[in-house]
Amino acid sequence: MISIETLVCKDEEECQRKRERWEHLQNRFCAIGQRELDMFRARMGDGKHKILCDKHFYKRSFERSISEADFKEVLKCGWVVERNKTAKATSIMLLGYVGRNYRPLHIVIDMVSENLWVAVTAYNPQSHAWKWNEGFDKRVCFCNPDD
Ligand SMILES: [Zn+2]
Repeated sequence: MISIETLVCKDEEECQRKRERWEHLQNRFCAIGQRELDMFRARMGDGKHKILCDKHFYKRSFERSISEADFKEVLKCGWVVERNKTAKATSIMLLGYVGRNYRPLHIVIDMVSENLWVAVTAYNPQSHAWKWNEGFDKRVCFCNPDD
């Protein structure tokens, strides 16, 4: 059981500070990520540029009722809302709205190399709604960076 205390922001002042920093950085990095996404999309048909899904992605998608059609929809029509550098790779997070009810969907993709991208996770941000603004394109809470 998850207690209700874990489902809200625990330090609004601190998260406000982090939010301002996040917006400042992401204004710049999202634009870069969007260019990378546009370029990748344009090249995806050439047979050399591929997006794979890792094991974790399949498992999570299944648990969260995210279909392959949803995934493809976001890949085709979504846009970059976050770009991050980790030790492993540079990743982008896409936001798209899928299905009849326009369910929001976040997909995180590691840009492993110029021609290989790997989708690592997908989730409906409504499941952590307090972490996002109304449009689910800006983080407002940073209490648990693992999610
Ligand atoms: Zn918070």
